[in-house]
Amino acid sequence: PDADAPPMPWFGMDIGGTLTKLVYFEPRETNRREIDKETEVLKNIRRYLTRNSAYGKTGRRDVHLQMDNVTIRGRRGTLHFIRFPTSEVGAFLQLARSKGMADLVNTIYATGGGAYKFEEDFIKEVNMRLSKMDELDALIAGVLYVDSMNAQECYYWATPDEQPVHTHVCDSPPYSEAALSVYVRKPYDFSSPYPFLLVNVGSGVSVLVVNAPNDYYRVSGTSLGGGTFLGLCCLLTGCSSFEEAIALAASGDNTTVDKLVRDIYGGDYARFGLPGDLVASSFGQMCSAERRAKVSRADLARATLVTITNNIGSIARLCASNEHIERVVFCGNFLRVNPLSMKLLSYAMSYWSRGALKALFLEHEGYFGAVGCLLHLDT
Ligand code: ADP
Repeated sequence: PDADAPPMPWFGMDIGGTLTKLVYFEPRETNRREIDKETEVLKNIRRYLTRNSAYGKTGRRDVHLQMDNVTIRGRRGTLHFIRFPTSEVGAFLQLARSKGMADLVNTIYATGGGAYKFEEDFIKEVNMRLSKMDELDALIAGVLYVDSMNAQECYYWATPDEQPVHTHVCDSPPYSEAALSVYVRKPYDFSSPYPFLLVNVGSGVSVLVVNAPNDYYRVSGTSLGGGTFLGLCCLLTGCSSFEEAIALAASGDNTTVDKLVRDIYGGDYARFGLPGDLVASSFGQMCSAERRAKVSRADLARATLVTITNNIGSIARLCASNEHIERVVFCGNFLRVNPLSMKLLSYAMSYWSRGALKALFLEHEGYFGAVGCLLHLDT
């Protein structure tokens, strides 16, 4: 064990534009002396966090993501992954106070915009200092660490025989259930990853070129991200949660909303290799009052999802080809419970690059910034 390590409890926090991610390291007691040393408050915090999977009204622990048997600074233990809406930071602070955390923890290692925005609230409400880390530094450190600890972390979506999906079901539109249902999830060996493109799809989107652990830069981004999907979906369908928006999208059909190449050409635009099923104009059918009257909420949700996802896919692909990079890793909570977007991205990467680009995904989706923070808990 590392003698300079800060006292327990160890947390890493990423206070994002939509969600706050909290990663908690539960040490494994190795001997009697350590058990005795653990204070009452520390025990209570540990019990409260590890015995529950819901905290207050909106806090959730992603039990399926829990990582047992990890090593941090020479200590072995378990990582727990907790999230709550950033709009509930106030409630979190009250809870922290009521659990006595304020007496024990005087510094929280935090990243994300909220680490700046809420700095004063943390001091005022619970007398905790936020030790801030840059969110992109934290993100990359977190990705590399989690991948090194979990052989199953990185995966991709493949057709059963690894052939591009469009040669499989060329008579179905790429975004149809039929075309996407052939995909299966397969582990990807990410042990020699460099260079790779990292596309973090949170409320907004950042695109990073990563050449080595400490050699990266931000090449691009877009404000049309997960927040846009959810915001537009709420406006268009009256839904009120991300889960509901995703469920609606999964059951909808965007071709009643979007204008396809065949709606304009009557078939393919063969000269430039554009198949008739391709979206020519996202939401292009919605100029017609007659069509608007017939469209369903599910169709609108799916069109929103397809629009946002394909736009992110286009930007990622242009960045990858500019930078001569073949592996594109997508992360961020937009991909949470969202296999549809992952498959669409896989399809788009492979189709538009004629198989040259590979879309990769990470099991711990939106938690890497918080993990990165936890790892740097010495600074
Ligand atoms: P940020 O750090 O900007 O909050 P995240 O990586 O946490 O970014 O992703 C936020 C996005 O994840 C949201 O815009 C939304 O699209 C999606 N999302 C997934 N789960 C939820 C949820 N439970 N509540 C709100 N948004 C969610």
